[in-house]
Amino acid sequence: MVSVTLDSGIADVVGARTAKALEKAFAIRTARELLDHVPRRYSKRGELTQLDSLPIGEQVSVVAQVLDARERRMQRRNGVLTEVRITDGVGTLALTFFNQKWQAEKLKPGVRGTFAGKVNAYQGRLQLQHPDYQLFDDPDEAPGAELLDEAAAKAWSETPVPIYPATAQVPTWTIQSSVELVLDALAPIEDPLPAEVQRAEGILPLGQAIELIHRPKRDSDWQRAQQSLRFREAFDLQLALLARRMRMQIAESRARSAVSGGLLDAFDDALPFSLTGDQRAVGQVIRAEMDSERPMHRLLQGEVGSGKTLVALRAMLQVAEDGGQSAMLAPTEVLAGQHFRSIVEALGPDLTAKLNPVLLTGKMPAAERKRALLSLASGTARIAVGTHALLSDTVSFYDLGLIVVDEQHRFGVEQRETLRQKGAQPHVLAMTATPIPRTIALTAFGDLETLTIRELPPGRQGIETFVVPELEMPRRAARVWARSAEDIASGRQVYVVCPAIEPGGKAEDPEAASPDDAEDGKAAKPMANVMETVAWLRSMPQFEGMQIEALTGAMASDEKDRVMGEFSSGRTNILVATTVIEVGVNVPNASIMIVRDADRFGVSQLHQLRGRVGRGEHPGLCLLMTTAEQGTKARERIEAVAATSDGFVLAEIDLDLRREGDILGTVQSGNGSTLKLLRVTKDGDIIAHARDVAEALLTADPALSEHPILAARLAQYGESGRLENLAKS
Ligand code: ADP
Ligand code: MG
Repeated sequence: MVSVTLDSGIADVVGARTAKALEKAFAIRTARELLDHVPRRYSKRGELTQLDSLPIGEQVSVVAQVLDARERRMQRRNGVLTEVRITDGVGTLALTFFNQKWQAEKLKPGVRGTFAGKVNAYQGRLQLQHPDYQLFDDPDEAPGAELLDEAAAKAWSETPVPIYPATAQVPTWTIQSSVELVLDALAPIEDPLPAEVQRAEGILPLGQAIELIHRPKRDSDWQRAQQSLRFREAFDLQLALLARRMRMQIAESRARSAVSGGLLDAFDDALPFSLTGDQRAVGQVIRAEMDSERPMHRLLQGEVGSGKTLVALRAMLQVAEDGGQSAMLAPTEVLAGQHFRSIVEALGPDLTAKLNPVLLTGKMPAAERKRALLSLASGTARIAVGTHALLSDTVSFYDLGLIVVDEQHRFGVEQRETLRQKGAQPHVLAMTATPIPRTIALTAFGDLETLTIRELPPGRQGIETFVVPELEMPRRAARVWARSAEDIASGRQVYVVCPAIEPGGKAEDPEAASPDDAEDGKAAKPMANVMETVAWLRSMPQFEGMQIEALTGAMASDEKDRVMGEFSSGRTNILVATTVIEVGVNVPNASIMIVRDADRFGVSQLHQLRGRVGRGEHPGLCLLMTTAEQGTKARERIEAVAATSDGFVLAEIDLDLRREGDILGTVQSGNGSTLKLLRVTKDGDIIAHARDVAEALLTADPALSEHPILAARLAQYGESGRLENLAKS
């Protein structure tokens, strides 16, 4: 027999054809990758799958019993249709076969098996067309059946049957038999997890856990295996994150000290307001950490409008005081432009002249860009604000001491890394207005420690939020526009946000596509779009003579600047936009935020959008328009947003409502990058505990010299790109 290790290819064991199919469907090439493909659930030969809630359009595998079979001559086509009904004892599901009369011979009433296919509805009834299936051998008819006692029959019916994530080309039993071949051929596995940790945590040895997750004899087998593998997964992840953090901390950075009576003090003295308590507290931590030879790595989270930008600017001044430079990375041009302008304004003419801040975006005229690049390379500019353009190879710094990443969740770790590489261990301050629950912080952002601002600057008038169900309350919907006209008449401004740019267009922001369409059974209904909304509002009598403009990500950057400028200056009354304005846009005179088809947006997005109003002396009003019906998930989500304005509460709700894949972004697709059994939504305790265990181990033995297998595994993990994928959420 062939003997394989976890890193062997599987073609020799499972055959070239199956190996190819597995690679194509799941990017599975090695034994490890195959064994990592764990069952989605377990069925029993004696227990049938409930048939009444099968999702239409999806590939399913069900365990069921054949009820009956009949044949029908087709009227329009020439041929015979065999229809076999299978049952779970309550409901039925039809299996249809065209011109395969022999199927009725195999599918005799009473036989049981696993049936796989795509569920579709025909004349209101669910069916699988030409399904694949595998019948269970009836224990009564097995050779020597007369010897089978009752206990053996019971074991047969109660043995869990693994049901794998499968496709039409690679059904679950193909995966199951491939896994069994590999398990039989597998050489003993080296277990990376130290024996003392296994003992202390009650964790199964790796080989046993893998065996039991794929070949359980009873439910308790796979349950224990899952528990062990979940812990291992959390442990591997935390160990990798912690090890990386240690590496960064070992690195020497340059201490950036602020002297009293220097730039930072001068700036603080000139501020027209005083810092909030939280701004001050957070500022002190940052000041102390940058005044040290260990690079700072901090994630600053704080509500929209809590004044994070000011905190960042003060950090930049501290670096500038030492002669160093800072780079602030923003996710959109609009935001980069706005940060740049507000930094220039906050600095005032003297400090601006001294520090020479520059803006760098992708669409700048060549001459301007060249000037900016030159002043960064020579060190005459101490502050750079920009988009992804900052990451380009052509950008170099004289002495980059601090990188600030605004709206951190819009960037991946590798982008932060690219910018970091442009300096000698610069300090890092990542910022987010999307509060991050602790488990996510530990998982996706495990190498950044958080700082939090909860307090808003004084004098904020607050924001009221209402859901406007257009179908149920058409008069309230009409009131939305009347109220807007009133606010505009008293000098305020209004945002209207739509999910799409053009009729029939896709959501501009992939995040804005409703994740619930499939569940609620509504195929893509048309979405409110910017272009039609502008035309429609312009045609309304109450908006006659008002300036109504569109802003979308598809526009040229100078056009975007112009439109944004017109709105900031107050000349434009209504700005109709996509989520380009989601993050950070600051126009304190705006008082109403109207979101059309609000159900197309996620909880945090809506919270962000709402944060665009109520930023000044005027109270904010946020109106979430929707045609989603009561009781749907989509409606639940926007009602949650209306019910609370606490971003931290919303972040938890978001975590409950969103699906795992949405939270961890792209990680679900192949490449060995995804979390397998661990669920950040449910396994917070395991993650936190695994972190403690990993930390204790690393503290005692930073180089893992006592644990060579673990060290090797850690290196492999680091190279796999899994961490990078994970954090891009
Ligand atoms: P964030 O980036 O956290 O959403 P900003 O930094 O954009 O918030 O701040 C929002 C507004 O609040 C800005 O106009 C800023 O000048 C103002 N601001 C910041 N800190 C204070 C403060 N301590 N007192 C009054 N206004 C403040
Ligand atoms: Mg901001």
